[in-house]
Amino acid sequence: MIAPTALPTPLDLSGHAPRALFSYAGGAWVRGAGTPTPLHHAVTGAVIAHASTGGLDFAAMVHHARSVGGPALRAMTFHQRARMLKALAQFLMARKDAYYAVSAGTGATTRDSWVDIEGGIGTLFAYASRGRREFPDETFHVDGPTEPLSKGGTFVGRHICVPLEGVAVHINAFNFPVWGMLEKLAPTLLAGVPAIVKPATITSFLTEAVFAGMIESGILPAGSVQLLCGSAGDLLDHLDEQCAVAFTGSADTGRMLKQMPAIVQNNVRFNVEADSLNFSMLGPDAAPGTEEFDLFIKEVANEMTSKAGQKCTAIRRTIVPETMVDDVRAALATRLAGTVIGDPAVKGVRMGPLAGRAQVGEVRKAVEAITKDAELVFGALDALQVTGADAAAGAFFPILLFASSDPFRRTTPHDVEAFGPVNTLMPYRNLDDAMALARRGRGSLVGSVFTNDDAVARTVALGTAAHHGRLLLANRHTAKESTGHGSPLPNLVHGGPGRAGGGEEMGGARGVLHYMQRTALQGSPTTLSHVVREYMPGAATTGDAVHPFRKHFEELAIGETLITASRTITHEDVDKFSDLSGDHFYAHKSDELARQGVFEKKVAHGYFILSASAGLFVDPAPGPVLANYGLEGLRFVKPVYPGDAIHARLTCKQKTAKETLPDGIPQGVVAWDVEVKNQDDEPVAVYTILTLVRRSG
Ligand code: NAP
Repeated sequence: MIAPTALPTPLDLSGHAPRALFSYAGGAWVRGAGTPTPLHHAVTGAVIAHASTGGLDFAAMVHHARSVGGPALRAMTFHQRARMLKALAQFLMARKDAYYAVSAGTGATTRDSWVDIEGGIGTLFAYASRGRREFPDETFHVDGPTEPLSKGGTFVGRHICVPLEGVAVHINAFNFPVWGMLEKLAPTLLAGVPAIVKPATITSFLTEAVFAGMIESGILPAGSVQLLCGSAGDLLDHLDEQCAVAFTGSADTGRMLKQMPAIVQNNVRFNVEADSLNFSMLGPDAAPGTEEFDLFIKEVANEMTSKAGQKCTAIRRTIVPETMVDDVRAALATRLAGTVIGDPAVKGVRMGPLAGRAQVGEVRKAVEAITKDAELVFGALDALQVTGADAAAGAFFPILLFASSDPFRRTTPHDVEAFGPVNTLMPYRNLDDAMALARRGRGSLVGSVFTNDDAVARTVALGTAAHHGRLLLANRHTAKESTGHGSPLPNLVHGGPGRAGGGEEMGGARGVLHYMQRTALQGSPTTLSHVVREYMPGAATTGDAVHPFRKHFEELAIGETLITASRTITHEDVDKFSDLSGDHFYAHKSDELARQGVFEKKVAHGYFILSASAGLFVDPAPGPVLANYGLEGLRFVKPVYPGDAIHARLTCKQKTAKETLPDGIPQGVVAWDVEVKNQDDEPVAVYTILTLVRRSG
């Protein structure tokens, strides 16, 4: 594990002299040489830090990740990596107050910081839990079912996913210095791949603070994470075919980096999350006075002002029925007028500054472009009231609402992203128009529609999905619990086509697989079962005189099989099961009734066959088997009629040790492949049962 050496303490913003930020390279905290970039407090404009990576050996960083971090992470199973993420999340959460203090320097309000800091740590927690639920306690992942490749069943296929053996380079935007780092690190580390984190320089002082916490924790293996506060130098030139880059930032930078020779020549995986002109639409049914109208106004205003509009998912284009434009404009103006801009440390301030003066210039340029094609209907570019701070010193920007009278021909609001509290209203005549406007974003991260008419929701969802990574279908029923338009979630895909970069992050297990190589294995069922440590039909089996339910978790071998005695199903069985279960479906009542459907004669209940087969394979006395845990993949493949004789084949398919809770019984989950057959040896039911089995240790 990484030794906590010479840790930088979080930047002190209370008037102390600026200090140089550290990078973490090759297992040591280092400061770059050369002319550093000054970093400013977003509220006061004061220089609070310097950043430089001059003189760092980027090739050595890549080598360190590849030769130290990669092997250490790959030696761990998914469950070990998941537990590592959980411990890390707990460690960082316990120190969050220190991070909030540093976050103030980025101009964030407490709520903005919550999204960034606790949202980021929450992503670690989410992946920690998915890692244990959705991945095996193995170093690799088996993807999908066995693929039969031959008639005789001796040649089959199976996909496995193994960690890439290079390094993941994470290049992040300035707006979420913590979440941006952690939402990428969580799936990467869970996949077993080391990372080099390159935050945007301007807010890297906050990333440095949280990263230092990660190192201080001593939880991560050496070489698994490194940090660059400052320029990335020639880092990307050292990447090879086993590496991956995840970039978040402007489309121009993304395009430029994606075309670098080392990236192109080595086909380095390159995920881009870029500019996005997200839409929100008011449904034709959501007239003033409806709950949806009020929710819409609240959401649009919130998306314009939270993080001062510096969110890749913020609503930039607001599409409303032409008959409601005036109402929407008036309602938004009222709501936005109540947003106090200033120093977030001052009570009552709801919106802070942009991240820096350079951003003020950028957003201003974008606003000037939008002005050519839309009319300003709320706010003024050069009249800004700021509470508790000097408007000229800090990076403050006014809230601006535009309205476009002809959004089909005057298209700048569809093309130019003002990365601040700026939004354009657009009228539509009918839903086709509205969807055409939504698609003018040419690929966005997210769109939303506020409607209580599910037919409208369906039309908009299917009509705009190809152009969006995520769609929020909002109405009064989701209002209380909805996470809103602008929140990417670890279990859902984040990314979008076209202008949004064409990338995809998070999305639960999908985000992990992005850092893994999927390989198709072909061979005999026995060989593949041995490789993936999971029994597959057709593989060689074993068995002995001891019933498998009398064996502890450790004693069971994959492929160990029990073949039961047989039982003849009778009319009386079927009638009794009908009475016991209350299932009097006509096909179980008489031959005549059964023939009115798909059966030849009175048929046994599938659930009876399931129960009867348990009666055949269960060993009843107390022993290592603790409980039935569930059943998966059940198929009734052939009817069973009274007079048929069934028997079962139970094979140990997969074993997963579970964590032992304090005072808990050490145990594991054993998955059993079950095949129930009739007297002609034809399968009538197949499924997998899961049992909890005591561990002997
Ligand atoms: P940016 O200027 O493109 O910078 C993004 C990152 O790229 C920064 O870390 C930057 O580092 C780095 N970078 C720039 N040149 C580089 C080079 N030659 N080699 C390696 N790295 C390089 O974007 P930004 O101004 O930080 O962020 C704002 C933009 O990001 C907006 O357009 C917004 O829509 C987009 N964004 C998108 C998402 C999303 O998920 N889709 C999320 C957030 C933001 P330096 O800071 O050191 O230059």
